Amino acid sequence: MDYSSVIQEIYADLKKKQSVGKVAAYIPELAKVNPDKFGVTLLKTDGLHYSIGDSKEKFSIQSISKVLSLSFIFPKIGEAIWKRIGVEPSGDPFNSIVQLEYENGIPRNPFINAGALVVADIILSLCKNPKEEFLHYINQLVDTDLITYNNKVAASEKKHGYLNAALANMMKSYGNIHNDVDEVLDFYFHQCAIDMTCEELAKAFLLFANQGELTHQKKPLLSKSQIKRMNALMLSCGFYDESGEFAYEVGLPGKSGVGGGIAAIYPKHFSIAVWSPQLNQKGNSTLGMLFLEQFTTKTGMSIF
Ligand code: GLN
Repeated sequence: MDYSSVIQEIYADLKKKQSVGKVAAYIPELAKVNPDKFGVTLLKTDGLHYSIGDSKEKFSIQSISKVLSLSFIFPKIGEAIWKRIGVEPSGDPFNSIVQLEYENGIPRNPFINAGALVVADIILSLCKNPKEEFLHYINQLVDTDLITYNNKVAASEKKHGYLNAALANMMKSYGNIHNDVDEVLDFYFHQCAIDMTCEELAKAFLLFANQGELTHQKKPLLSKSQIKRMNALMLSCGFYDESGEFAYEVGLPGKSGVGGGIAAIYPKHFSIAVWSPQLNQKGNSTLGMLFLEQFTTKTGMSIF
C-alpha cells in the first residue's frame, strides 16, 4: 500500500480549504494558536512512518490525554475502575453536567470530562508523585524525555475551569471523588495541557495498535483484553456526541482534543495522528475528521 502518495494527495486537497471552523477560545491560551497549522503522521507497527506538514510541531493534546491517563491507571486498578465510571457513550458534549445528577455522580465513560476527572482522582490515590509519574509514563511510551506540561495552558484552563470545577464538586458530593477537589482539578488541567507533536502522538498511540506492547520495550504494558477494552471505548466514546459520526465516516477507534488533534489506530496495522486547530461545533478538528475519512475510504484501511 502506497500510503505516502495517498497522504500527500489528501493533504494537498484539504490544505486548500480555509475557515473550516473555530479555534477553541474558552481556554484563552489555546486561542493563540495559528489556525492554519496542519500536520499528519502515520506510523505502522513495522516501524515505517509517513509525516507531512506541521507534524513536528507541539500542540496541546487536551482530551487526547484522557486515553493516556486511562491506559496509565487501567493495569494498576483493573476492572474495579468500572464501579466508578461507565462504558457507554454519553450522547452529550464533553463538558456536559446534566447526566451526572440523575446517574448519581457516575460518569458515562472515561473520555468525557467527568469520567477523566474520576480517572485523575484514581491516579492521585495510587501514585506518590502523580504529575511526575504520569509524565514519565508518556515519555516512556514515546521513548523520549522531551514531553512536558505547558504550565501556561494549565493555568489558563484553571482560571476559566468553572464547569470542570462544578463536575468535580458534584461527584465529590456523591462520594465519587476521594481526594481534594482542587488537587484533582490541578492534575486534570495539567494532563490536558501536555504538548506533543503528531509524530509523538502517533508513537504513543502505537501502544493501542500494537496489542499493548511498545516497540522499544519487551514487556507489554497492558494485556490484550485491556487493549480490546481501550479500543472499544475509543470507538464508542472518543468523540463525545460525534462518536457515531466518527465511526461512520472513519471507522477507526480514536480520540480528539480541543487543541485540534486526533489520534486514531487500526489494530495490528498503524496509528495515525492529525492536527488542525479549527474545530467543528462538537469540538472536534474539522480537517482532522475530513482527512481521516478520506484516508480510510481511499485505502480501505478501517476496522469495518
Ligand atoms: N481541557 C479541556 C476541558 O476540560 C479538554 C476538552 C477537550 O479536549 N474536549 O474542557
